[in-house]
Amino acid sequence: MGLALAQARLAPAHGDVPVGAVVVAPDGTMLGEGRNARERDGDPTAHAEVIALRAAAARVGSWRLAGATLVVTLEPCTMCAGALVLARVDRLVYGAVDDKAGAVGSLWDVVRDRRLNHRPEVIPGVRADECAALLTAFFATRRRPAAN
Ligand SMILES: [Zn+2]
Repeated sequence: MGLALAQARLAPAHGDVPVGAVVVAPDGTMLGEGRNARERDGDPTAHAEVIALRAAAARVGSWRLAGATLVVTLEPCTMCAGALVLARVDRLVYGAVDDKAGAVGSLWDVVRDRRLNHRPEVIPGVRADECAALLTAFFATRRRPAAN
């Protein structure tokens, strides 16, 4: 989660909401990392998780990331929850809850839907306060009117 938080902290530099993710192999090797880059890339799908999954798949040479763990600072949205199921990730670790758009228990529970044949293990709430504080700080600066 420390590496995911480090990624998240880089996002505001390009105007993006601070969300970071990493994909880790069973032996602890870091396979891919990503941070939210919707504004930077002008891409609605450029969420931290998707970028990290793409990097990991490129490194592994396969779309199948069985055995891997995806660590992300914010509860995944429907797109990212779907992507990590499709990637066959074994485990999802996330930080802050997203009660407005979360798809791992908040609004939906995509990754534990019994109708799907792949259901990753979920470990929520890891360093949740730090993850949430980054978001709160980011939105606080955005809401403040310009001084001059
Ligand atoms: Zn997402």
